[in-house]
Amino acid sequence: MKLVIVGGGAGGATAAARARRLDERSEIVLFERGEHVSYAHCGLPYYIGGIIQDRDALLASTPERFKSRYRVDVRVLTEVKRILRDEKAVEVVELDTGKVYRERYDKLILSPGSSPVIPPIEGVDLDGIFTLRNLSDADRIVRFINERNPQRALVIGAGFIGLELVEGLKHRGMEVTLVEMLGQVLPAMDAEMTRVVELELKRHGVNLMLNEQVVSFERKGDLVVANLESGRKVETDMVMLCVGVRPNTELARSAGLEIGSLGGIKVNEFLQTSDPDIYAIGDAIEVPHFVTGKPVLIPLAGPANRQARIAVDNIYGRKVKYRGILGTAIVKVFEVVAAITGVNEKNLNRLGIRYEKCYLHPHSHATYYPGATQMTVKLLFSPDDGRIFGAQIVGNDGVDKRIDVFATAILSGASVEDLTHLELAYAPQFSTAKDAVNIAGYIASNIINGDAPSAHWDEIESFSEDKYIVLDVRTKEEAALGKHLKAINIPLEQLRGRLHELPKDKTIYTYCTVGLRGYIATRILVQEGFNAKNLSGGYRMISLMRPLAKEIEELKQH
Ligand code: FAD
Repeated sequence: MKLVIVGGGAGGATAAARARRLDERSEIVLFERGEHVSYAHCGLPYYIGGIIQDRDALLASTPERFKSRYRVDVRVLTEVKRILRDEKAVEVVELDTGKVYRERYDKLILSPGSSPVIPPIEGVDLDGIFTLRNLSDADRIVRFINERNPQRALVIGAGFIGLELVEGLKHRGMEVTLVEMLGQVLPAMDAEMTRVVELELKRHGVNLMLNEQVVSFERKGDLVVANLESGRKVETDMVMLCVGVRPNTELARSAGLEIGSLGGIKVNEFLQTSDPDIYAIGDAIEVPHFVTGKPVLIPLAGPANRQARIAVDNIYGRKVKYRGILGTAIVKVFEVVAAITGVNEKNLNRLGIRYEKCYLHPHSHATYYPGATQMTVKLLFSPDDGRIFGAQIVGNDGVDKRIDVFATAILSGASVEDLTHLELAYAPQFSTAKDAVNIAGYIASNIINGDAPSAHWDEIESFSEDKYIVLDVRTKEEAALGKHLKAINIPLEQLRGRLHELPKDKTIYTYCTVGLRGYIATRILVQEGFNAKNLSGGYRMISLMRPLAKEIEELKQH
């Protein structure tokens, strides 16, 4: 067997190593057009930020290591230009010598990755404007920073990489402006879950500009000026363009391989392209979403690695199906950690999938043990059978492990009730006896079985006043610090004695700070014949969606 692999990144390098482990006798050739193979893309923003100082630490392997350990023939600075399917060969060019030659294959794996989107706007190619895709890009950016000592940076695009770069450039001591075309950062998440991240950016002095778009760049002396659609201008010393990536499909297209509806290489469940001898993996392919079954393009390192193993297994005769992608992702923005798995609410709405949701604000570990922090969890699930659709978490400590438990649960087809049965490790330093994931399961199950009729922060403004009242069941002191404008305040402890003050012909929307007392109040009211619903996630969810300016003002006062 002669296996040829295109691309020495996450997918290609993993495929080469796996293939050798499965078969000692195969001839394995890997072509990489860049200088390096198998390095940590994910560490690049931290290398640029000076947080990772040892560049070599990013190099997971080298062509020499591939040769000595795996007997894989890695040819760097060699670009695959064409696939000659009839001949079962690829045509390559050595980028340093210009030499062109052909290499025959029995099976071919394409893992060419993706390329940064460069918006077609005036001045986008000016000196000082960068994209970040590989180690050579990172080297170029670090060199620019070291030589020019920029004081101001503009990051365009508030996705995962944009936010990581914001933190890195801040770490370098720069003044950073972040421009995002949407009304929220982290477009993969739902808006209300990203408010904490936006607040954190502002708290660290990042000039955050949402709903803004750069329409052109121009040079002014040593500076780059970004002209925004609103007419505003941002003067800066350097620009990072982080507006997304697109799959590298040129090779596949020119070879006549089928391309999917979203523009990625189309593969079957065995990761085979429309040519059975050619497999494709990683950022370049579109795959079904595990929850919805719809094709998606989600460029992540974990899936690329897993797909590599599966493709190779299939090539060597083990029938393994790729089950689909969940899009589990996590990012740290200064002190805040934000994570997502599964489908978000925006996409459930777009696809017309019936769903329920709940919010909770559990602690990372027992509050009596020092260092506990609070997180906000959003769980999306089927109101019919409780199947989990997705989860999002913002917080600090412990966000990573909870998102991974949710991801595992979704992949195993678990329902919200299954979450209540999970037995998770507990000691005060690590969790609470009822872990955040268990609590999410209880709340969601209570909603499904009718024990906890609930409403949501985004419904409250549209309630009709003659049909509802809003009941704040926190203490007077808590309510005095800020409450919903239309709310009446009856503390939970007084509720049983003051039921006569409440109408039976209106819906009563209860809330407390995070949702627990509101839930207890709802239980009391429902059992006393009232029509009551608890505002999921409590006042914290209402206040999260208030204008950021107000939040920041409050933050300053406390
Ligand atoms: P790549 O790893 O990009 O490898 C593709 C390789 O193919 C490239 O080296 C390219 O030079 C080569 N190539 C392309 N065409 C040819 C050709 N014709 N001939 C020869 N060689 C070719 N993902 C996460 O899950 N978590 C993170 O924290 C994270 N952080 C990231 C940070 C940054 C700055 C970047 C850029 C990406 C990050 N990612 C992260 C995404 C992750 O790196 C990718 O999803 C992953 O590398 C995809 O693997 P791949 O094999 O498809 O592509």
